[in-house]
Amino acid sequence: MAQAEIPVADFPSLEKALKHHFGYDEFRPGQRRVIEAALKNQDTLVIMPTGGGKSLCYQLPALLKIGVMVVVSPLIALMQDQVAGLQDNGIAATFLNSSLDVEAQRQREAALLRGEIKLLYVSPERLQNPGFIQFLNNLSQTVGISGFAIDEAHCVSEWGHDFRPEYRRLFELRERFPQISLLALTATATERVRRDIAQQLRLRDPLVQVSSFNRPNLFYEVRPKGRDGYRALREQVRQHSGSGIIYCLSRKRVDELALLLSQDGESVLPYHAGLADEVRRDNQTRFIRDDVRLMVATVAFGMGINKPDVRFVIHYDIPRNIEGYYQESGRAGRDGEPAHCTLYLAYGDVATAEYLISQKPDETEQRIARQQLRQMVDYAESTVCRRHIQLSYFGETLAGLCHQCDNCLNPPPTEDWTIEAQKFLSCVARCQERFGMMHIIDVLRGSRKQKLTNLGHDKLSTYGIGKDRSVEEWKLLGRSLLHQGFLDETTDGYRIPKLNAASWQILRKQLTVQVAVPKDLKPIETKASSGSVRFDNSPEAVALLAELKALRKRLADKQNLPPYMVFNESTLKQMAQQRPQTLEQFGQLSGVGSRKLDQYGETFLGSIRQFCADHGLPTQPIIISPSPASHRSASSSHPNSSQPSQPPTIGNTHRLTLQLFQQGHSIDDIAQQRELKPVTIATHLEHLILNGESIDLDALVPPDRQQPIRQVLDTQEAFTLTDLRERLGESYSFDEIRLVRADWQQQHSQSTDKNHADQ
Ligand code: ADP
Ligand code: ZN
Repeated sequence: MAQAEIPVADFPSLEKALKHHFGYDEFRPGQRRVIEAALKNQDTLVIMPTGGGKSLCYQLPALLKIGVMVVVSPLIALMQDQVAGLQDNGIAATFLNSSLDVEAQRQREAALLRGEIKLLYVSPERLQNPGFIQFLNNLSQTVGISGFAIDEAHCVSEWGHDFRPEYRRLFELRERFPQISLLALTATATERVRRDIAQQLRLRDPLVQVSSFNRPNLFYEVRPKGRDGYRALREQVRQHSGSGIIYCLSRKRVDELALLLSQDGESVLPYHAGLADEVRRDNQTRFIRDDVRLMVATVAFGMGINKPDVRFVIHYDIPRNIEGYYQESGRAGRDGEPAHCTLYLAYGDVATAEYLISQKPDETEQRIARQQLRQMVDYAESTVCRRHIQLSYFGETLAGLCHQCDNCLNPPPTEDWTIEAQKFLSCVARCQERFGMMHIIDVLRGSRKQKLTNLGHDKLSTYGIGKDRSVEEWKLLGRSLLHQGFLDETTDGYRIPKLNAASWQILRKQLTVQVAVPKDLKPIETKASSGSVRFDNSPEAVALLAELKALRKRLADKQNLPPYMVFNESTLKQMAQQRPQTLEQFGQLSGVGSRKLDQYGETFLGSIRQFCADHGLPTQPIIISPSPASHRSASSSHPNSSQPSQPPTIGNTHRLTLQLFQQGHSIDDIAQQRELKPVTIATHLEHLILNGESIDLDALVPPDRQQPIRQVLDTQEAFTLTDLRERLGESYSFDEIRLVRADWQQQHSQSTDKNHADQ
């Protein structure tokens, strides 16, 4: 074997290497496992959602192993950005592609052969060039090749959405360089594509790392798109801060919407396959560099966007299928900061999408597309947790509710519409199951249309019996009956309602019908705007953040880099919030590695110091602990009060704490990692317990210390933290009391619920 195997034990601290090169303190879930496998030269298939941190899985091994890591990447624009980003972290990376002239190419090859480069990015086409294969041979015999990383590996599969014939031939790498390990990476969610990747690339007994597809920082919601759809959209866009993508179904709609928004003073550009290459490239670059805030696009705006700080993605038209929707909306919040995904639903758009499907030449394709669209509409109309539907589509189950979607936060009430259903179904029967939904509604509402009279449908016993409900309400009922399986419809494209066994049960009064009636949608709350969970939003922090962003933009422009490559959003927020005063403090921020510290530390510190001086702020660093929730729960909700208080709502910040806690970190660990006070973390855990999340309390408070606290609570003579502590004595910490009390409260409320239910 030409590749030296490096024992993992020789890297007691991969974390140190992570902090040094990339500035991060912790691996994201799955990263460490993949990196260890790569260091042992094992083939690996990495399946992580967008934003999961795939790049690091091969970048860190590249730095730790002997030789050059060859990265196959499908898009030239992406390659340039990735290489620029790495170079900005002081990492020797380069790319070879058709955009280079002969001399530049020769120089890069020479640098590679001198062993000066650790990562080489190439396009899949290049690997079919015999001259280049010769070069790789040369490289592997001199400097060595530490591995082949195949990015966007789903392009190898015809079942995926971005199939590229050039990817098909990548297995030749395995044949030519059998001793070199392969690392395939993708965000593909479907099982079939995953299997295909392993087969097509001839992976040998690979480590398969599948991360959860749940992206807890994304908020999902669906809004109706009424006649005033554009106004609602414009208002929403105004309320959001930061970059956003708005997806539309067709090029025409992209152009129209971009024009409208720009006339309304928004900073916006269009993107679709109908634009000239250089216009498209330019628009994309301006979006990534924050020269323009909004991109209105078709799905052509896709794989190439690895801008991490997209704060919202809006689907102004219905997406084609759930997988597509997941991938497109998933372009929001790759940096892990809160982001918002909105889908606007209008039945007119569904009809347009259906029309487009009917134009497809292939019958089977049409059928599949129609079915996928129906699943999408079901998703949009559903009243259950949106994440449940998304994740179950990918075969993943989520325990409990997500608390991060419209249906979880604001569940629509259901109403008994059995009588209405009987009217509706009986009208379908009277019309002999030969007419569409709109005709049925016309009959029910006693319409005077000529067609009805000609057919004699104004003589039916169901004519006019449904005047008390609006057309919209009847449509809602019709759809709900279909979704609940109480009614069928023809699938030949005409969609004629047909009665089934369940319909007859309803008509015979053997079944009741519940319909979820959506509430009117309220304007988005401020919580939807970016960064609100970890950022304290004080006037100083907001003002400083704006200054730091402007500084970042100036520095980025000077180097022709996207701003996020200087520092990402969360690092800037930490700066604005903590106002570090020394290089040492600055270096501790997450996202500041050794190179960034050298390169930018003084400049940013200068700006922060100046800001403090101008605003008369202390020059000592401050740590902010958000949410005075402890006071709230301490002063309210006495167990004896008849109305048990609502558990506090759970947000992203709680989820993050939960995730870390479930990974086995202690309160202090989590606090340190998240740069929050331990008491804040304890409060998060308290909230989580109160919300019924399963938290291993014994890991937080030993059982023998829990007992006395419970005993005092059982006496019902003390409930506030101060009172409890007074009774228990100083040896009990407030945090211990807080956590046990939450658990006691949770059990208490459950037993109360149960008592009510039993009565
Ligand atoms: P993917 O390719 O899986 O969509 P990226 O590799 O682009 O994701 O990473 C997404 C973002 O997460 C990037 O901004 C990256 O710098 C950041 N990131 C990756 N790993 C970590 C980590 N361990 N800690 C913090 N941020 C990370
Ligand atoms: Zn939910």
